[in-house]
Amino acid sequence: MGKVMANSVLAGVELGGTKCVCVLATADGEILAQERVETAAPRVTLPQIKAILRNWFDARRDIAALGIASFGPVEVDQASSNWGHIGQTPKAGWSGIDIAQALREGFDVPFALDTDVNGAALAEMRWGAAAGLDDFAYVTVGTGVGVGLVVGGQPICGFGHAELGHMRIPRVQGDSWPGSCPYHGDCVEGLAAGPAIVKRSGMRAGLIAQNDPIWHLVGHAIAQMLHNLVLTATPRRILLGGGVITAQPQLFPIIRRELETSLNGYVSSPELDKSEDYVAPPGLGALAGPLGPVALAAAILDRTALHAEANA
Ligand code: ADP
Ligand code: ZN
Repeated sequence: MGKVMANSVLAGVELGGTKCVCVLATADGEILAQERVETAAPRVTLPQIKAILRNWFDARRDIAALGIASFGPVEVDQASSNWGHIGQTPKAGWSGIDIAQALREGFDVPFALDTDVNGAALAEMRWGAAAGLDDFAYVTVGTGVGVGLVVGGQPICGFGHAELGHMRIPRVQGDSWPGSCPYHGDCVEGLAAGPAIVKRSGMRAGLIAQNDPIWHLVGHAIAQMLHNLVLTATPRRILLGGGVITAQPQLFPIIRRELETSLNGYVSSPELDKSEDYVAPPGLGALAGPLGPVALAAAILDRTALHAEANA
């Protein structure tokens, strides 16, 4: 079946809130080249990315597809006239920008666009700790809380991409801190993302002691979200990464315990019962993000090949 030809080379761009990473990689996920640019105004940043891609496409003829994994919100519905546009965002100058048009123009290869977390999830499915799984979740807790929930091999998607990091959850009894999400206050992101931790503690997250009670509050919030993910999609594994989790590995046992307490034996599965494998770090580590757009490029190439086979 039409798996990406092993010798194809794929180009990807991870558009992040603070930096953008351009990646050239093989279909096996081996990175051949990587370049970063700061995320500034789009009229500055997009031409810089474009120039890097132009150099790569000019230097070699074997780049078979281009993928973009973007911060959200971004319109991912192909039927929408706004497909490929950034939605309303506090990032200065980016609201309404057509990133698909800006980045794909001039490159005559299959093009794929999705969110950064969906890209990272598909990278983990192709090359990382979700290899062989069709149903799993990739969760990142960093500047925000993002979830790539993959069901039947595809990130869930309706009229737009999911925003599971903004789900509302039960609070720890007695905790009435209002949370930091400008839209919802105490949604998961408003309780557990880096800025929430900084706001609640009044200090840089890296300076908070590992045994500070705040980590219980953070872990509890994340575990409540995982409870809902488990009951929604019965993922076979949940990968947990991002700046907060990576720097605070003591959150893993807290989250596993709180998830088990919350589910209270209501569901069980061989996967769920092995909690250290079930809630686990991403296999690609910090490369899950940069390989995200490459995985999107690989997936679009697979679909293009399947389509060509079907019409042959
Ligand atoms: P992004 O979400 O922008 O891709 P990261 O995943 O690297 O970036 O996460 C950045 C967040 O991680 C910041 O909000 C910061 O508060 C938080 N962070 C950085 N260092 C630590 C630390 N030592 N402990 C907890 N949180 C941290
Ligand atoms: Zn929110």
